[in-house]
Amino acid sequence: MLSVAEAQKQILTQFQPLEPVSVALKQALGRVLAEPVCAPADFPAFDHSSVDGFAVQASQVTAASPEQAVRLKVVGDIPAGSAPTFRVGPGEAARIMTGAPLPPGADAVVMVEETDVFQQVPGQAAPEQVAIFKAVQHSENVRRRGSDLQTGQELLPSGQRLRPQDLGLLAMLGQAHLAVFRQPRVALISSGDELLPVEAPLEPGKIHDSNTYSLAALAQNAGCQVMLPGLAADQREAVQALLDQAADLQPDVIISSAGVSVGAFDYVKSVVENNGSLGFWKVNMRPGKPLAFGEYRGIPFFGLPGNPVSAFVSFLVFVEPALGRLSGLQTEDRPRVRVILEEPIESDGRESYLRAIVQSKNGQYFARLTGHQGSGNLFSLVQANALLIFPSGVKSCPPGSEAEAWLLPG
Ligand code: AMP
Ligand code: MG
Repeated sequence: MLSVAEAQKQILTQFQPLEPVSVALKQALGRVLAEPVCAPADFPAFDHSSVDGFAVQASQVTAASPEQAVRLKVVGDIPAGSAPTFRVGPGEAARIMTGAPLPPGADAVVMVEETDVFQQVPGQAAPEQVAIFKAVQHSENVRRRGSDLQTGQELLPSGQRLRPQDLGLLAMLGQAHLAVFRQPRVALISSGDELLPVEAPLEPGKIHDSNTYSLAALAQNAGCQVMLPGLAADQREAVQALLDQAADLQPDVIISSAGVSVGAFDYVKSVVENNGSLGFWKVNMRPGKPLAFGEYRGIPFFGLPGNPVSAFVSFLVFVEPALGRLSGLQTEDRPRVRVILEEPIESDGRESYLRAIVQSKNGQYFARLTGHQGSGNLFSLVQANALLIFPSGVKSCPPGSEAEAWLLPG
């Protein structure tokens, strides 16, 4: 039997990041940067006020207090978006709005609340004079040029999946388009005489195809474009036709669930072998021991187990890292959290991914199972918010002992 880590390693050798493409910033959420982003300029680009108030020379207001106001002549008005050219000299001030450039000569800003014009009405003209009630330090209420970012500084690395805050930063830098890796195209197929599409009424002996939905959603969550060529009956011709249909869509990966075990009607294995190659592995893992990996007409092929929980867990363990590599992601490992077991937990010595509820209490995570761990029990996966990971060789853990867990995608 192959260890999980060995199987993952062998699979990853077959994947490299896809080619970079350009996308508009609006379309860039969740995409993976194909080159690092550096600051094209200092930010802020100019010294500006962080408050609404009056730009002054700090040395002119050192004596200011509520009892003894310092009166200054207002020599100008600086709304946000303007570029003042006049100077503020000794005994002078300029009304200034948050974000507006500090005028030449001024070195600090007194908040409007510390002056006699604390109640401003929109549209009201600047006063001719202002009384200052409080001293300010040099640079007080001023955001200096380059205090956030300096020209040339690396801000985001290549391989970073873009988050909402990254898009804000990129817009701030004026990057309307960026280089990201092309999204992986994934074709998902299912096979089995028992399967009916979700729209069809159930018939005796049949079940609805659920893997297509959970696996497609996992692939979408992983940032892929998903194509669903459909379902095949357990017949060689039907399986061959469906695989060809999948390959004709020119995906980067074909994922099949079911049909790769040793059942008498499992044709997927032999059809793939006749049109490519297939490694049929027994992985030391629970759930999801059988795993097929190879290529169909040159396209990487995953044959996941048919049981819904096995298919789901195998996807997270083997397919998601491969899709991450194709997507150009820098970090491959799903983060693990340490949990304390609330109940005794048994497994069979295979590396186990057990459905669990993890709850935080007093700053620590506690875990218990969500019921029986049969690999067809999809509801227990729905009740879980985590997979508890037992390393191989561990058969039982008493309550209070520690384990690791993956928090499941939301
Ligand atoms: P197999 O790998 O074909 O032996 O299937 C193993 C188990 O998974 C059987 O109980 C199948 O009915 C079930 N199964 C296979 N494919 C799907 C699917 N797409 N959705 C739900 N269950 C499935
Ligand atoms: Mg089957």
